[in-house]
Amino acid sequence: MRGAILVLSGPSGAGKSTIIHAAAERIGEYYFSISTTTRSPRDGERDGVDYHFVSKEEFEEDIKAGNFLEYAQVHGNYYGTSLKPVNDALDRGNLVIFDIDIQGHRLVRAKMDDITTSAFITPPTLSELEVRLRSRSTDDDGVIANRIANAKQEISAVGEYDFFIINDDIEKAASEFVVVTNAARLKRSTEEEEQFIKKWLG
Ligand code: 5GP
Repeated sequence: MRGAILVLSGPSGAGKSTIIHAAAERIGEYYFSISTTTRSPRDGERDGVDYHFVSKEEFEEDIKAGNFLEYAQVHGNYYGTSLKPVNDALDRGNLVIFDIDIQGHRLVRAKMDDITTSAFITPPTLSELEVRLRSRSTDDDGVIANRIANAKQEISAVGEYDFFIINDDIEKAASEFVVVTNAARLKRSTEEEEQFIKKWLG
């Protein structure tokens, strides 16, 4: 059986990776799609683990070669999802989790809507987001201001998502995330539905 896609979006600082880690033992086997980006690594980030960090030239080569399932410019840098590892994971029947922005979500919906489930994750308020970004102290003021401006725009796309997780309590958010992953796994592709109907009719 082909796997399924779970798209997570929400502002940087919403706690998406913290939620995934808190829920990891409860969500069964999954494949986390490691994006490629032209932004510089933050302190503690590792190449090939958090992102594939590449130059603008390398990224543009990959665009030309058609290697991306989707890509977008976010905060002035390129971010993209490579097609091949995602397809391989789907062929293995895995749940593939993406942490991508609202533009990426729209592109994945356009291409793979029938196997895609999505959740928007956000802190309870804009001021809470600001507190979290400042306490993380990995970004300077200009970068934080940019992320806040972006978050203000992104929140209006919340209605495009299947689910909405407010991260004011990590345990509660992680439990909700577990439910969302179970729902995502239950989604069947159009092809599987058609095969099932044929078989069902006998
Ligand atoms: P950050 O720089 O904080 O790691 O990520 C900035 C934003 O880029 C986040 O909203 C994140 O979801 C988004 N992002 C990360 N990887 C991708 C990707 O491959 N494609 C798209 N469209 N957005 C991404």
